[in-house]
Amino acid sequence: ASFWTQVPQGPPDAILGITEAFKKDSHPQKINLGVGAYRDDMGKPYVLPSVRTAEQKIVQENMDKEYAGITGVPDFTKAAAVLAYGKDSAPLKEGRIAITQTISGTGALRIGGAFLQRFYPNAKAIYIPTPSWANHKAVFLDSGLEVKQYKYYNKDTIGLDFDGMLADIKAMPKGSMVLLHACAHNPTGIDPTEEQWKAISDAMKEGGHFPFFDMAYQGFASGDTDKDAFALRYFLKEGHQPCLAQSFAKNMGLYGERVGAFSIVTSSPEEKAKVDSQIKILVRPLYSNPPVHGARIASKILNDPALNKQWLGEVKEMADRIITMRALLKENLEKLGSKRDWSHITSQIGMFAYTGLGKQEMERLAQECSVYATKDGRISVAGITSGNVERLAQSIFKIVG
Ligand code: PLP
Repeated sequence: ASFWTQVPQGPPDAILGITEAFKKDSHPQKINLGVGAYRDDMGKPYVLPSVRTAEQKIVQENMDKEYAGITGVPDFTKAAAVLAYGKDSAPLKEGRIAITQTISGTGALRIGGAFLQRFYPNAKAIYIPTPSWANHKAVFLDSGLEVKQYKYYNKDTIGLDFDGMLADIKAMPKGSMVLLHACAHNPTGIDPTEEQWKAISDAMKEGGHFPFFDMAYQGFASGDTDKDAFALRYFLKEGHQPCLAQSFAKNMGLYGERVGAFSIVTSSPEEKAKVDSQIKILVRPLYSNPPVHGARIASKILNDPALNKQWLGEVKEMADRIITMRALLKENLEKLGSKRDWSHITSQIGMFAYTGLGKQEMERLAQECSVYATKDGRISVAGITSGNVERLAQSIFKIVG
């Protein structure tokens, strides 16, 4: 007998299920808006020219394939911290930010979760928004944390439930851990305004809560990496000592290279050294040290002034294409005479639009129109092109009017 007869069949991944259904569909103009990856206006995966150039430089340098240290490629992590916190950041200048390279954003969240599980001095529960990125709960549960939720989305306004969010933060036990999406909230595309961030920071301070920023879309939201770092940097100025998960999957298009970083702001270089030592103790038995290739690419782009400038232009181009597609979708829906208010399509930000369509409407969209996306009504704007936006609008109009 096999050792594994007692293993139960697990449910399929929601996104993979959509891709399967999409593949099986024979409609010549079928549309897949499930995937969370950028596509160009021809609907094709996009490798940034700055990434191609960085790769060529790396090949020409004939670098060896030795192991990186446990915390990765130092030129990469140094530059990643500057990108997030800003070059004038006080904790950075004072040498009190501990940082490690990670297996993209997911790995950063996981290392963060494991560190907090081991060392966070208060209750080991983390609050995530409702809804949140589908993987947050699993990552933190598997890190050994308890996962709780705070209000975020108001389905009546298809906007932020700001009052609910603030009330929930105020009702949390003192010293709670709170996960915040730094920009381009996934799945809703709804971010707090700068004024709202200020109130959130105050409430967090009042409660003595610990902010864990997940920044998977820096630059990708507005096209400006500084603007997208507003919340993180504001919290720093206000005296918070957050931790941060960074991903270079979206803003550099390095998805499969798995480039990310996890960092913690500490109160002194001495404390940083201790935290560093414990991060190493966590990473070593997990994967010893991270892969080097993607980090070398990101490092080249962040550290070479000309390449950096080129990259910032390319990030902006991606963000702008998405913003344009939002506008076109809204415009087409209005042209068709839709009675619904679609202003949330253009007020939301980042890769995803939360359409406000329900589960049944999304199912009909797939069955009747061959338009595929997650059942929560989230569509990947990155999958919209000037070639399919009209058909997409017609499909949505057909289902909801
Ligand atoms: N956090 C959020 C909110 C995300 O949307 C994603 C990816 O979709 C990630 C983290 C992690 O992605 P990756 O592990 O590919 O960097």
